Amino acid sequence: MTFRRRTAPTSDTLAGVPRPRTYKTRAIVLAHFDLGEADRIVTLLTPADGKIRAVAKGVRRPRSRIGGSVEPFAELDVVLARGRNLDVITQVGVAHAWLRLRDRLESTATAWYLGELSDRAVEERAGAHPVYGLLRRACQLLDDGMAPGRVARWFESGLADALGVRPELDRCVECARTLEETDGFRWVPVLGGVLCDDHPPPPAESMRISLDALKLLRAYRRFDVEALAALRVPPPVEAEVESAMRRYTRHALEREARSLGFVDEVRRPPRPGG
Ligand SMILES: [Zn+2]
Repeated sequence: MTFRRRTAPTSDTLAGVPRPRTYKTRAIVLAHFDLGEADRIVTLLTPADGKIRAVAKGVRRPRSRIGGSVEPFAELDVVLARGRNLDVITQVGVAHAWLRLRDRLESTATAWYLGELSDRAVEERAGAHPVYGLLRRACQLLDDGMAPGRVARWFESGLADALGVRPELDRCVECARTLEETDGFRWVPVLGGVLCDDHPPPPAESMRISLDALKLLRAYRRFDVEALAALRVPPPVEAEVESAMRRYTRHALEREARSLGFVDEVRRPPRPGG
């Protein structure tokens, strides 16, 4: 004999499993736009539910209780009520504000870039623990003052892992032989990593990379973040790896991130020889 649990009036039922009408989650705001006179639609990244689009009602009124909190690049504790189309944010607490991240334009621009990558990489209503963890840590590192370029490369490298498209850095992607220090290397995102010089260069989206750049790419894979922050790398090598990881990420997500223009714009051009 079975007992049917009485469903509370505040619950609805999906496939026989009662779902509470409201739920609580940690979340990072990835994007928002204004709706009507006082509301705002937000895209939240959450660990267990991936992306959630939700309405924050009345947040643009001066006396809104939750208004100031629903901003990008803070970690929030959010209570949502399930809605027919969009869920509604009913309570917000700030778990981590990361205020110093906003003090520097390049850190802010980088956070937008990483947020956009997260938005692209994660589906709605699907578990996103690895990407959530990466973005959360990246915001923390930017807030701590780590060089934004290092944080971005660390994130891109981790994102490739999270997406299951970790680049091959030790063997040639074509003939599978172990790469030697005396080899010439070509970075070929479409083939998933490094190609040795025994092959004709593929036409699209490939670039030559130096041994030092290859070593730095490996460091992003193998070193912990404290070791990465402390690395001393000549700017041209850093630039090579930036170009390589951007191409790789663009290939993995099938599109260029719009916010990269912002990152490049706010970054001061390096002084010649400096
Ligand atoms: Zn080869």
